[in-house]
This record gives sequence, structure tokens and C-alpha cells, in this order.
Amino acid sequence: MTNAIIEVVDACKSFGGLKAVKDVSFTVGTGEIFGIAGPNGSGKSTLFNLMTGIPYGPTSGEIRFDGNRIDRKPAHAIARSGLCRTFQKDAEFPDLTVRETLLVSAVYNGDLSASKATNEAQSVLELAQFDPNRVDMLSSELSVYEKKQLMIASALISKPKVLMLDEPASGLTKPEIAKLDALLLGVNRAGVTILLIEHVLSLLLSVSQRLIVLNQGAILAQGLPADVVKDPAVAEAYLGG
Ligand code: ADP
Ligand code: MG
Repeated sequence: MTNAIIEVVDACKSFGGLKAVKDVSFTVGTGEIFGIAGPNGSGKSTLFNLMTGIPYGPTSGEIRFDGNRIDRKPAHAIARSGLCRTFQKDAEFPDLTVRETLLVSAVYNGDLSASKATNEAQSVLELAQFDPNRVDMLSSELSVYEKKQLMIASALISKPKVLMLDEPASGLTKPEIAKLDALLLGVNRAGVTILLIEHVLSLLLSVSQRLIVLNQGAILAQGLPADVVKDPAVAEAYLGG
């Protein structure tokens, strides 16, 4: 790993008596695809929430992004600084076309010139490998995979340094997961660091350079995919042992 773009140090998040994230520390290198695995309820989405301040920061611990503390910053300031996330449930504008959705996102991000917004929309559609013949479809008419592509394109339009994706493969078929694999590698090659939560382990292991495995809020294992899969504790956590 070269220089770190994200440093999480002893991050904790409690909900009443439940410690959903416990003393989690890791660093993400600039340009990496960094994976986050773990069984259901292990704290993966909570970790994304506290890193982005949406809708809460950590109960304790430090988070640095691009050299600056962000753990006490408001969510909009974190997003503006280039740490951008998607959610497990797609938030779509059903009555807008793909093109319109991206123009709205561009304007929301402060690109007020129409020609600039149009160019940006074009470039993120290409990056998300979106079929050019489908850009005038309503969002509600898209396939599950196309909705994911639009979600990623919408996130990319703010030109994030880091893109955080929460289970983008959910609901996809095997061939679609293969397309998503290529899409993520392409986005990463274009210079975007990616943090990927994924339940589909084959995808996570294929694209991640390094990963952490969470279990009951704590890091159970971390390192290279080839080493992590061999860890007996990981198998046990996944099999509910
Ligand atoms: P994952 O994304 O790994 O499936 P989550 O981060 O969503 O897991 O949840 C981790 C734990 O925290 C779970 O036990 C979940 O029930 C609990 N949890 C998540 N959000 C809240 C909340 N807002 N209030 C109370 N408990 C929560
Ligand atoms: Mg989750």
C-alpha cells in the first residue's frame, strides 16, 4: 500500500447497549479496491454510516480522509470533500429518465452550466458501461442491473476520490455480477478508490486488493483475499459457528 486515503482508528458505534462496531481500525491506500465482508448484522453498513456521517458519526474513534479528521464533520461536508457512498436500497427518481437523473445529480453537485452537466453525464455513463440506447428510459423501466449502473453513475458524477458501495451485487444474476466486476475494475482504473461491502464473496475476492472481515462488530480477519479465505475463523463465522 502506498499513501493512505482513509485511516480508521478504533472506531466504535453503540446503539443503546448494542456495540454494532467495536474498535475497528484499518487503512485504505489511494487507488485501492478495499473489501469489507462479514455475515449479516456484523456491522458493515453501520461502519459505512459512521464513516460518511449519514446518518451518524462514530460514538468514539478517529476517521481521517485525505489527511483530515472527518469523524465530527457533517455528512454534506464529508461528501463534498470526495467521500461518496451508495446505499443498500437504491434511491431512484422513478419519473426521471437516466439522462435526467444524472443532470439533476450534476446540478445538485453544483455544476450549474447545462453543457458541462451534459458532458459530465456522458462521461459517467461511459464509466458505468451504460447502454447508450437506454439513456432516455425512465428509471422505473430499467432492469435491476441497469439501476445499479445508474446508481454508480450518479455517485460518480460528483467526482469522488473514494466510492463506497454497499452490497451492489444484491439481486443480480451471475452474468450481471461478472459485468459488475468489470465495471468496478474500470472505475478503479479511472482513478477512483473503492470501498466495497459485498455479500457475494466471489465478487469481493475477485476485485479487492485487500479486505477486512467483520464479525459481531469487530475485525475478525484482514489481509489479502487469498490469505483471508484460508482463515478458519472466517469460515466459522460465515457458517454461523
Ligand atoms: P450489516 O450491514 O453487516 O448486515 P448492520 O451494520 O446493518 O449490519 O447492523 C449491525 C448491528 O447493528 C445489527 O445487530 C443491527 O441490528 C444493529 N443496528 C443497525 N442499525 C441500528 C440502529 N439504527 N438502531 C439499533 N440497532 C441497529
Ligand atoms: Mg448492511
